[in-house]
Amino acid sequence: MSDDALQKAFAAVSEASDDSKQLELMRTIITTQVIAQAMQPQQPALPARQEFDSKKWLTIGTLGVAGGLVASLFAVAVAIGWAGGYAVLCAVKSFAPCRKCRGLGQVERFGKPRTCPRCHGRRLRLRLGRRAHNYWRRTHQAGTR
Ligand SMILES: [Zn+2]
Repeated sequence: MSDDALQKAFAAVSEASDDSKQLELMRTIITTQVIAQAMQPQQPALPARQEFDSKKWLTIGTLGVAGGLVASLFAVAVAIGWAGGYAVLCAVKSFAPCRKCRGLGQVERFGKPRTCPRCHGRRLRLRLGRRAHNYWRRTHQAGTR
């Protein structure tokens, strides 16, 4: 009951003079601001930190995915380019110098020059791609005959 009486007295004093009323208003405003400031860093701090972390990881993940995509695209482009170049090479220059005799048609064995056993002196070998193409074509022709 004493608190009630005190509040009543306070109210009476506040009503009595405008200055004290404003002071009370200021005090309540200040206290609410202090409470709000005390509450603020605790409540939104965790979600804010989580959001920052998720953003960071999202950025890292995006960068990683983008990098991987670019790398794989580059690898695919290089593979296509190489395959295309090899296909053209097989079509235009289907023969390459023999690997065993390096296109000489002869190999040295026991100090004596001998006919290359790989190319039989023809100095050339059919490229693997062309051989595969020929094999496929013959099989295809045999199948469609
Ligand atoms: Zn040879």
